[in-house]
Amino acid sequence: MGGERGRTLKAQTTNNQGPVLYWMQRSQRIHDNWSLLYTQEYALKHNKPLIIVFNLFHSFLDATIRQFDFMLKGISETAEHAKDLNIPFYILHGDPVSNLSSLINQNQISALFTDFCPIRIINEAKQDLISKIEIPVFEVDSQNIVPAWIASPKLEFGAYTLRPKIKKLLPQFLTDIPAPKAQTAPSPKLDFGTLTLLDPKTAINHVKADMSVLPVTWLKPGYSAAQQLLAEFIQTKLPVYSTDRNDPNLDGISHISPYLHFGQFSAQRVAYEIKSNSGPNTDSTDAYLEELIVRRELADNYCYYNPNYDNFNGFHAWAQKTLNEHRFDKREFTYSQEDLEQAKTHDPLWNAAQMQMVETGKMHGFMRMYWAKKILEWTPTPEDAQSIAINLNDKYELDGLDPNGYTGIAWSIGGVHDRAWGERPVFGKIRFMNYAGCKRKFDIKAYESKWNQNPTDETLF
Ligand code: FAD
Repeated sequence: MGGERGRTLKAQTTNNQGPVLYWMQRSQRIHDNWSLLYTQEYALKHNKPLIIVFNLFHSFLDATIRQFDFMLKGISETAEHAKDLNIPFYILHGDPVSNLSSLINQNQISALFTDFCPIRIINEAKQDLISKIEIPVFEVDSQNIVPAWIASPKLEFGAYTLRPKIKKLLPQFLTDIPAPKAQTAPSPKLDFGTLTLLDPKTAINHVKADMSVLPVTWLKPGYSAAQQLLAEFIQTKLPVYSTDRNDPNLDGISHISPYLHFGQFSAQRVAYEIKSNSGPNTDSTDAYLEELIVRRELADNYCYYNPNYDNFNGFHAWAQKTLNEHRFDKREFTYSQEDLEQAKTHDPLWNAAQMQMVETGKMHGFMRMYWAKKILEWTPTPEDAQSIAINLNDKYELDGLDPNGYTGIAWSIGGVHDRAWGERPVFGKIRFMNYAGCKRKFDIKAYESKWNQNPTDETLF
């Protein structure tokens, strides 16, 4: 299999004779999961059984019951797939560091594997855990096609600097993915001590999250649903993706982002199937793979190499300078977070985008740019704008709390991965978008009337 998708986080020898543990975190699936494949290869080589643990946080940043519901329904299917392969799958609950260190120490776990993730809260937990255990620890990047640290060793300036590096490596990394093997070793007897094990079907009852943002029903969670969605997308929407994707009235996008965010489906599988099955319209295939690979992996690059990925200090010097120069410009309209959240602005197009997000958990990609840029225009400071945008994005979007979100917001508000444009009030040299520009691109009245009128489930998409 080769070791290039994984790396050692702690080189440690141990006499522990217990199972090999895969702490499943970002890649919440059994199929097409390099982290699991690497763990399995190591376990077989060392003649040890493999176990999987998923640790459910009590609460997670701004996540609401909408996102926990989507995640845990996916986990339920993942647990079934693990059972099919006779691989023990456990759900723990609470602080991952104390839970996993207890499990490791009580059971003589002989090695730990986990998923690469550039999000701060996860990395802090990982580092903390590593400091408390005396076994080898490995990390595998199963979310990016080219592992983030191989794609680039540094913070990239933009898509144009990352693209050639990724393209050069794709022939090596954009391959088919082997299937995991069924485990033949009997399940080890484990000592869970005082740790609570959750049933995947009822785990949701243990979550402490905002219950007011309701789960969605129009998009079915889990691996199988994603597999079906991808097949339909390739058949019907991919051929016209390059023309339809930027019209928010057409349902021309794949809706794969929630599955990728929770790792319920592999981006490498998506890219591999698209490449293998796309028809003659290469414009569409190229456009889709540009978003799925270059833009998505650029977002991981930004969050991985920039500790300020979610605040003003993460912006380039030119962007900070221009935003500072326009910091005290008069805002024609200012809104509180509450006004924005309740879609109470003077702009029916913005309100419609906000309502699409609140109702469905998925604002159209084109509108996300307009939405974030208007928050910059209508709030007292760029810091307020960024923090409100992150908070609303992470509260309502099914794919929220993701490097793509932090980077998309930093692009819209702080010019990250973009260049300087003509100077204007409030925005300075940050790229501007306006209502008239949208009007030229699509039927904004149709979009406004749809989303400002509480559509029913049947008419959502
Ligand atoms: P498709 O058009 O079908 O694209 C397929 C895949 O390509 C997406 O699933 C995604 O993985 C990737 N992709 C598409 N556009 C981008 C992009 N601009 N940057 C990086 N990857 C991209 N994406 C999230 O996953 N989570 C977020 O919280 C999020 N918040 C955003 C906030 C703002 C302000 C902006 C400007 C963009 C944000 N994006 C976010 C990126 C993008 O809008 C979504 O990934 C896309 O709309 C998801 O829908 P889809 O899967 O149907 O897209």
